[in-house]
Amino acid sequence: MEYEIVIGLEVHAELATQTKIFCNCTTQFGGDPNTHCCPVCLGFPGILPILNQKVVEYGVKAGLALNCTINPYSVMARKHYFYPDLPKAFQISQYDQPLCSGGYVEIGQGENRKQVRLNRIHIEEDAGKLVHEGFMTKMDANRCGVPLIEIVTEPDLRGAEEAKEFLETLRLTLLYMGVSDCRMEEGSMRCDVNISLRPLGQEEFGTRTEMKNLNSFRSVVRAIEYESARQKKLLEQGQEIVQETLHWDDATGMSSSMRSKEEANDYLYLPEPDILPVTVTEEEISAIKDTMPELPSVKKQKYAQAGLNEKEIDVLLANPVFNAFYEDVLAQNGNAKLCANWVLGGISRILNEKELDASAIPFRGSRLAALMQMEEKKEISHNMAERILNIMFDEDKEPQQIAKDHGFQMVNDDSQLRELCQKAMADNPNAVADYKAGKTKAISVLVGKVMAATKGMAPGAEVIKILTELLQQA
Ligand SMILES: [Zn+2]
Repeated sequence: MEYEIVIGLEVHAELATQTKIFCNCTTQFGGDPNTHCCPVCLGFPGILPILNQKVVEYGVKAGLALNCTINPYSVMARKHYFYPDLPKAFQISQYDQPLCSGGYVEIGQGENRKQVRLNRIHIEEDAGKLVHEGFMTKMDANRCGVPLIEIVTEPDLRGAEEAKEFLETLRLTLLYMGVSDCRMEEGSMRCDVNISLRPLGQEEFGTRTEMKNLNSFRSVVRAIEYESARQKKLLEQGQEIVQETLHWDDATGMSSSMRSKEEANDYLYLPEPDILPVTVTEEEISAIKDTMPELPSVKKQKYAQAGLNEKEIDVLLANPVFNAFYEDVLAQNGNAKLCANWVLGGISRILNEKELDASAIPFRGSRLAALMQMEEKKEISHNMAERILNIMFDEDKEPQQIAKDHGFQMVNDDSQLRELCQKAMADNPNAVADYKAGKTKAISVLVGKVMAATKGMAPGAEVIKILTELLQQA
């Protein structure tokens, strides 16, 4: 029997605020254990949490970028569970009245384009981190109270590849909005996968399992492939799927049972009595809209229309700093393809050679645009432009200045070129005779002589044109 894989995701993204959700402690990653905390995030008795307004703003921004409805009124709630990484023994989250409802993310191209519906986005606090060392488990509270958004999808994904594309699109969107740095390896973006199988064509969902501890896109793909194969095997043997929470072990490539799946009522959700309901006005929403940069999905379409291929687009979008540089060049030059050639060719090559990040490009895009213009105006050859670009990484000067200082000036003067061509012909009578005898390739000897005389600063096409003219007269 053929089965269809049904996947829903719960994605947690740490918000890029300076301070935690209910106190002024820093959200910075790392630091000595238990140094980024205070009585509020440690949940001491008698403390009063105060909601960081930036958390609401970032949550709204994420919601708007993901096509959600922003709820004017939402409620913080206590989610109770006992685990050593949770000092209060409850997490302040949102339950039946989240900040954002609905929404969707578009994935796929052309005919395969589809909307993956979101159920909700809510804001909540992160728990601490348990560090296992040998027989010991240590608790680090630095992460307690770091703000999160949890993005919950509907069960709209149908396989590992779709899930990966969804996560990549989501990650880029949050990254460009500046609401999260989405570093999976540092745990600032984490993903739980709900997965079930059903016979192809059946409407009713099968029993699902939830897989936790997925900390890279690769492990999401592997875990989905593993779990769907496991469930398929059980179903084919006529066995039942047990609804449970599984722990994915990336090292062994296998999952193991953590606990039987808990239901919402196991958490005894209660409205948080110490925090007023969260209100967001129309004016606040439109003010946030005004600060939103262009969405990566919009850029993607723009680039595709300008003739860039999928691979070029992916690289141009992968890093917002790199992308801002490209947009800067594009704003000056306007030729998307040409700008992409320079940014993906010249700039990327030099960054790779120097093992630098896009943030280390020592000049603005306008400087590269000026260099490109020099080539367009035939003031310099492409080869010279490439050499000047290299120098631009070491010398803080305009490309015109570098060309002057290093003697990269084209010999563009027609009479001078003509003279040089005539000299080359006079010095190489054999080449002239060969050409006249029908060996037209002999012209390359003469071109070479002119190039040597100008140290490569002569425009090749122009030289050939003049030589052809003179040879026909000779
Ligand atoms: Zn604190």
